Amino acid sequence: MSGITHDYMEDYIRSLIPESTDKFKELEDFAKEHKVPIAQKETAKFLEFMVSMKKPLRILELGTAIGYSAILMYEASGYKASITTIERDENMIKYASENFKKYNLEDKIEIKAGDCLEVLESLEEPYDLIFMDAGKGHYNHFLPHCLRLLKEDGIIVADNVLFRGMVASNDLVKRRKITIVKRMRKYLDIVSKDENLITSVIPMGDGIAVTKRR
Ligand code: SAH
Ligand code: MG
Repeated sequence: MSGITHDYMEDYIRSLIPESTDKFKELEDFAKEHKVPIAQKETAKFLEFMVSMKKPLRILELGTAIGYSAILMYEASGYKASITTIERDENMIKYASENFKKYNLEDKIEIKAGDCLEVLESLEEPYDLIFMDAGKGHYNHFLPHCLRLLKEDGIIVADNVLFRGMVASNDLVKRRKITIVKRMRKYLDIVSKDENLITSVIPMGDGIAVTKRR
């Protein structure tokens, strides 16, 4: 159980989503086998929806893993977006670059190797959509950079904001996770209360928060 919605709801919503085919099936199978936490099915569908609606030309992603969500966003953009994606794990960088090569996406998706915060500091060109999906305990530290790098009408999609329900209920909090939980609450508090921003928190997957400027 995700700790976020009831099992029956989650199972039903998931059952509506058609089985992936081709590269996405391959990537999902690989992720499952190697226990890589790629976007859950309904999160992936939501992301696909947001990207196909927003039609971003420049996307920034925090957390590449094996490149699943980056490839998904690229296709959802109508094969038009250029994507910058940040990853610090050497193994993941290797898997993702192999995948981008395999699917001929090396000139569409650029991996920036390093810690999100450091890479964020070095970026200057603005983005239409930012997918925050790495370093759960640091979203509140990434936020000022993401806002600096977000176009006037850009959107931030942050994943895992409810973190297995722990962010919403102290009863679910595991001791070792308390710092992450506190920082995530701070992130949600900031994006929800800032008068210049509008944020919607969606209890889907592991929790998603979408933020834009008013
Ligand atoms: N977006 C991917 C999943 C990303 S999983 C998808 O849905 O397909 C999160 C990834 O972020 C992991 O691969 C992890 O190595 C990376 N990560 C975690 N903290 C990070 C940090 N501070 N800087 C860079 N990468 C980080
Ligand atoms: Mg995630």
